[in-house]
Amino acid sequence: MNANELSKVNALPASELRQRIAQFDVVAVGIVAAAIILFVGIGGTVFPQILRAVSGEGTGPDRSLTSALLLNIALVIFSWRRQRMLTLEIAERRKAEAQAWILAETDPLTGCFNRRSIGDATDRLVSTARARGEEVAFLMFDLDNFKRVNDVNGHAAGDKILREIAARVTRAMPAGALVARLGGDEFALVIPFDPAHPQRIEELAETLIKMAALPVEVDGALLQTTISIGITRSNSNQGGEPAQTLLHMADIAMFHAKKQGRNRYYWFEDSMEAELRFRAELEAGIRRGVSLGEFVPHYEQQIEIRTGKLVGFEMLARWKSPTAGEIAPDIFIPIAEEIGLISELSESVIAQALRDAREWDPGLTLSVNISPIQLRDPWFAQKLLKLLVEANFPPSRLDVEITESYLHENLGEVRALIASLKNQGISVSLDDFGMGYNSLAQLRTLPFDRIKIDRSFVSGLSGSGDSTMIIQAISTLADGLGLPITAEGIDSESIQNQLKDLGTFKGQGYLYGKPENSDQTRERLSQLGLLLKDALPAAAKASNLPTLDANRRSA
Ligand code: C2E
Ligand code: MG
Ligand code: MG
Repeated sequence: MNANELSKVNALPASELRQRIAQFDVVAVGIVAAAIILFVGIGGTVFPQILRAVSGEGTGPDRSLTSALLLNIALVIFSWRRQRMLTLEIAERRKAEAQAWILAETDPLTGCFNRRSIGDATDRLVSTARARGEEVAFLMFDLDNFKRVNDVNGHAAGDKILREIAARVTRAMPAGALVARLGGDEFALVIPFDPAHPQRIEELAETLIKMAALPVEVDGALLQTTISIGITRSNSNQGGEPAQTLLHMADIAMFHAKKQGRNRYYWFEDSMEAELRFRAELEAGIRRGVSLGEFVPHYEQQIEIRTGKLVGFEMLARWKSPTAGEIAPDIFIPIAEEIGLISELSESVIAQALRDAREWDPGLTLSVNISPIQLRDPWFAQKLLKLLVEANFPPSRLDVEITESYLHENLGEVRALIASLKNQGISVSLDDFGMGYNSLAQLRTLPFDRIKIDRSFVSGLSGSGDSTMIIQAISTLADGLGLPITAEGIDSESIQNQLKDLGTFKGQGYLYGKPENSDQTRERLSQLGLLLKDALPAAAKASNLPTLDANRRSA
């Protein structure tokens, strides 16, 4: 029996059924005792009479007393047998009771407490710890990327990892602590501790992180996983159900640990709750905004640096939330990815951008960013093709930007996707080059058409000489591979001039202008004479899109 099971037994209150069984025991024992007393009473009269009759001194026992004695003996035997049967039945019932309790209160996979039982057990532990002058730390953790482990290695491997992690954690627990599996890959630990030494809990959290990271052997393969832990303590709890509140706070802290990069622990802080509320509002806002078409494309100019000629635009999504105001894509894109709305959001802004761009001069290209989630969608290339066909936009003018830092996760899938995009005539750029883990390896194995040097290197040109050397090296490498380069984040004349000296680049940045909305872009293009002749003015376009489409079809 492990620590967890022991504490379960200790924590079990006397049940009503036990009380009833105990009352029943008393009645049965009472009957047997009364029968024995009667037997002794009657026997005390009858047996001497029998003895006297045997020795020839008397006439024999009284017949009615003898019958009563025999009846009494039968009653004792009957009561004794009944008592035995009852004892056996009660033992069986207690066993079944205990089994039912185990099924209802424990997790069948790991043998730990389950979500239903941990609440009451925590409440009891909190009150006993308080009575001893101790506090209770409530830790919640889950396995990082467990879904991926399950997807790649199968559910049997996932189950083995869960059992092994539960066993390791249980071994590391001090006496009196509780371990629960809340469901899926989520666990809770409830640990009494001396409030003068909270660092013991931190040491324990560090040990758990190390223990969880040790490999687990599954069918000869060594699988590894990490955990993220959220911690809170019973004294910081104000009102409400203690266990519920502790769980809620630990959950928030765990979420924070995940966001900070996983494989670590965090104590709960009040500010985390505010952050979480803001995030929940953003999530709701994104859901509503996607369905109401609140996400719109803006366009950043792309310039041929040597000549200053405008050659195309990068589309960047913009969102003005009716409640929270303008929110940057660095914030809403990751959230849309997490809540599963990135494809819908992205397809909506790309469709709008294709409609806008078909009114531009045919020499101008359109670059769009796509998320790593979309890279994993086997239908992505088809979806994009459908949008191109619907907008009647030539694939050769479209450029898809793939951010470098995510490529190492799924190289095979990305290679297949790039191949199918290129088959359709779409070109593919490697965005934010230099920020990924193995940039050079990727450049050789993936057939990109262009690389975009990350903004951090370009803006570094205004500082130390390191950036100049890096850009020079990238330029030589790209030349060797026959890849053209775009430099992002050119925000001063001096950076532009240095780039002119370093090679033949395309460039974009605030020096040429900040991203502009559809109407502003049309205005700019109209002034440059780069708007198709049959494109209507912006105001007319807004009120008269179908007419424009009709013109285009008849042209
Ligand atoms: P990115 O694709 O690298 O886009 C360039 C970012 O740098 C843009 O920020 C742009 O406004 C900013 N930028 C351009 N020139 C300068 C400059 O001279 N100085 C400074 N300080 N910044 C400059 P933005 O629009 O906030 O976008 C951030 C990131 O969000 C983008 O990085 C891209 O990865 C992502 N993103 C934007 N729109 C979409 C979208 O529709 N789908 C997806 N999946 N990601 C998007
Ligand atoms: Mg980009
Ligand atoms: Mg970029």
